[in-house]
Amino acid sequence: MADEFDVIVVGAGGSGLAAAVSAAENGCSVLVLERLPQPGGTTGIAVGSFTANQTGMQKRAGIEDSLEAHAEDAGKFAPTDIEARNNDSLRRFFLSHAAETLEWLRGMGLAFHGPNPEPPNRASRMHNVVPNAKAYVAALQSRLTRLGGTLLCDARVVALNKDGSRISGVTVLLGDHEREFAARRGVVLAGGDYANSQALIERHKGKGFGLIRGINSYASGEGHLLAESVGARMVNMDVTYGPELRFVPPKDKPFFQQLLPAAGPLAWLAGRVLPLVPKFIINAYIKRLLVTWQHPENSLFDDGAILLNCKGQRFCNEKEWPEREIAIASQPSEFAYILLDQRLCERYSKWPNFISTAPKIAYAYVDDYLKLRRDISSQAGSIAGLCRKTRIDRVAMEKSVADFNGHVTDKSKDAFGREADSKPLEGDRWVLLGPVAAYFTTTEGGAAIDEGLRVLDGEGQAIEGLYAVGQNGLGGQILWGHGLHIAWAITSGRLVGKELGA
Ligand SMILES: Cc1cc2nc3c(=O)[nH]c(=O)nc-3n(C[C@H](O)[C@H](O)[C@H](O)COP(=O)(O)OP(=O)(O)OC[C@H]3O[C@@H](n4cnc5c(N)ncnc54)[C@H](O)[C@@H]3O)c2cc1C
Repeated sequence: MADEFDVIVVGAGGSGLAAAVSAAENGCSVLVLERLPQPGGTTGIAVGSFTANQTGMQKRAGIEDSLEAHAEDAGKFAPTDIEARNNDSLRRFFLSHAAETLEWLRGMGLAFHGPNPEPPNRASRMHNVVPNAKAYVAALQSRLTRLGGTLLCDARVVALNKDGSRISGVTVLLGDHEREFAARRGVVLAGGDYANSQALIERHKGKGFGLIRGINSYASGEGHLLAESVGARMVNMDVTYGPELRFVPPKDKPFFQQLLPAAGPLAWLAGRVLPLVPKFIINAYIKRLLVTWQHPENSLFDDGAILLNCKGQRFCNEKEWPEREIAIASQPSEFAYILLDQRLCERYSKWPNFISTAPKIAYAYVDDYLKLRRDISSQAGSIAGLCRKTRIDRVAMEKSVADFNGHVTDKSKDAFGREADSKPLEGDRWVLLGPVAAYFTTTEGGAAIDEGLRVLDGEGQAIEGLYAVGQNGLGGQILWGHGLHIAWAITSGRLVGKELGA
């Protein structure tokens, strides 16, 4: 294999593969280095929503939209203090290129379902790839191979090399030896996020948060450390998506069910057929995904549910975020269970009270969990029965419930500071949901970049030869809501490839 390429990409997730394909389409020789045995990254375990405005699919569905409207709506998802830190001009720049990226992907044979609504977006903008985000990886990887690009897995980039002040290449760990590769035009950092980097999370958010894991256990922030090592300015590193409670994924199935083909003619066919499939079947499919990874609604605790650890003991004020998440991560086994009594079971069995949701698309209730996630739900007519089924200590669980009820009925102070509870836990239907654990979904900090995707240093000057895309190069954008992270990952990759090929 050659030692020198026009472009070297660090990471083979959505943004890195898109950068490599686009650079190859624009005439560059490309090497992609991936530290794991296979490409994919967080992109490969995602759902796959891609949010964009003024797309061909919107137009065909008669949906009127504009960049102005999308730029405004994109600012309505995060809490105001987080949104205040957004890089407005960069996010607007991104939103103005997202529709073109969607067409680029469709040109590779990817099929999308939608556009689907996602309030507070005023127009339906969420395009869902069929069957899920693995399809992006499959399509981009196959296109890269056809274009003659090189993908090297089990290849961890450990350093950026310099020629004077210019980034001239990388040092890679291949098994037990190091090898250097040179980049004539540029190195693109596409290493993903740092949701599972205890060191980066503790440094930027505080010690307690370091106990909480990322959903993707490989999201190690190595790309961020590489950027930092050559003087990049890092922005919004304390901003994270989460922590939040999520049910642990099923053990016996892949993280996301792959019910439909991700590549080739069958995926194309699935995309054509999907709009014709009755809505109730689509909803059943979405509901299955929903109970696989969604997070339980906070309203459960406002309405009186309690959290118990694996010993049957309460351990926190269930209504306080993020202290609740830190407390769960500190428990034995690092998980907890949600206890519902008869009243809560009835309440969370019908609209408008649901256990989890993909807003306006699907809602999952108590019975959905009992039916679709038997591994994380148990039901009995008494606490003793529940304890027999779950092998949790009966005495401890009964005491936890009795203590909580004491606080509710005598208005005594709750041991964990919980307030405003008015209903004791009682009755002859009890459901235990869990394990639930606390996770960071992703992180919103990244290298500062300009619209050429060039990495900027502390003085705002471009570091010659260095580019960053996807979560590695977020540049201060706040991308809350569904579908903007993948849209950014692939759009930034597509644009950097054009830039480097120009
Ligand atoms: C459960 C879940 C569901 C999600 N669903 C959606 C969704 O539907 N829509 C949406 O918009 N967003 C979604 N997201 C977020 C979105 O998937 C990610 O933000 C996005 O895919 C990140 O793409 P990326 O290319 O930046 O990083 P990644 O896809 O994580 O790729 C980074 C790659 O770099 C590699 N790497 C890291 N360091 C090195 C190194 N030193 N050397 C070599 N390789 C390295 C990694 O192994 C990885 O393969 C979801 C996230 C999660 C966790």
